[in-house]
Amino acid sequence: MLLGCIADDLTGATDLALMLTRSGMRTVQVMEVPKPGALLDGFDAVVVALKTRTCLASEAVDLSLKTADALLALGARQIFFKYCSTFDSTDAGNIGPVADALMQRLGVDFTIACPAFPNNKRTIYLGHLFVGDVLLADSPMKDHPLTPMRDSNLVNVLQRQSKHKVGLVPFATVAKGPEAIGDAFISARARGERYAVVDALTDMNLYDIGTALADMKLITGGSGIAIGLPSNFVRRGAMQATPAPQTMIAPKGRAVVIAGSCSEATRGQVAAAIAAGMPAFKIDPLGLIGGGISVAAIVAEVVKTPDQRPVLVYSSADPAGVRAAQAELGRDRAGQFVEQALAEIAEALVGAGFTRLIVAGGETSGAVVQKLRLSTLEIGPEIDPGVPWTRAVGRDLVLALKSGNFGGRDFFLKAWSKLA
Ligand code: ADP
Repeated sequence: MLLGCIADDLTGATDLALMLTRSGMRTVQVMEVPKPGALLDGFDAVVVALKTRTCLASEAVDLSLKTADALLALGARQIFFKYCSTFDSTDAGNIGPVADALMQRLGVDFTIACPAFPNNKRTIYLGHLFVGDVLLADSPMKDHPLTPMRDSNLVNVLQRQSKHKVGLVPFATVAKGPEAIGDAFISARARGERYAVVDALTDMNLYDIGTALADMKLITGGSGIAIGLPSNFVRRGAMQATPAPQTMIAPKGRAVVIAGSCSEATRGQVAAAIAAGMPAFKIDPLGLIGGGISVAAIVAEVVKTPDQRPVLVYSSADPAGVRAAQAELGRDRAGQFVEQALAEIAEALVGAGFTRLIVAGGETSGAVVQKLRLSTLEIGPEIDPGVPWTRAVGRDLVLALKSGNFGGRDFFLKAWSKLA
């Protein structure tokens, strides 16, 4: 194993595993801290999916360190801490505390922070993160139920979360290529900075930054920055590039979309699926908690849908709907309550013979995978940037775990065509 990755949520892990697979690394995704002697031979990269984006910082640090130790014991030469391309976090963490702790554990005093993912329209200029053509703080991320992002300047955002000094490698330097970027890291270190937020506008920038990272023991960033890492290992003769899969053979059985993300992209996908006639069941957290509807009743309705078409179960609501639920239940309780309900629905549907699942939402996917007790996912073909089909190893189940923000408007309609 060459590259050991620690992802702070599940869909982010899948997105990263896909990126590495597309760039020629044989990659496996596991859902828990690998045990000593875990059977992960034959893979160039191991991505461990944690659920540490929104838990207590101390818990996130503890799990991330345990994961780093396990990956190093399995032979990882480089550790990559992966977070969301919209830098999802709060002033309490967890990006800064986890990165600080990993630096200490790996005995290094410098790393980068680069969530840029130009293919998904996340770019960084002068430390400011853009989502599409607006700044992060003006994007729908300002209304995220768990990690509202209201400051676009990543140097400042990370500085509030870290004990160490945060600097910037600006676009003018990045544009000059790998050598200039490497020199900028040396200068930043000499100034006492322990993090450099690195600007990136294009994949070319990411390749160049990746080249400059060949000898960096710890890297932090979004999945975009991973595109430049595999070729470092190929160049050094440590691995050969393997072609990425184009389709995935799926078990017979019914299909369901479970959407717990309230992101704008997911709400658009829900609307498009309903407009196209997909049978849809809406979960209202207040109705659920008040006893007006029950998980069992929803499952019974879904199973009863007459033909074999995919079915949609969603809790996705607009910001006003989310606010109403949160006012009644509190932010964390509302989130956990909906996640659990959707996970129970997924479990019951799998028990009833559903074998093809799309899950929308990072936290939601984490809850579903936990409930289904899935431990290892093989990475299949890409549906849209950042989202592959995956097969649960040892189970009759394929899943597409989609970060809320990801995918085109027709995602819930077109994804099935990549299954054979
Ligand atoms: P994303 O990938 O878009 O961030 P997540 O699943 O990670 O999606 O986060 C969405 C959070 O919002 C989850 O905790 C989910 O349970 C919660 N949620 C979903 N629907 C509602 C709703 N109608 N009201 C309040 N919270 C909700």
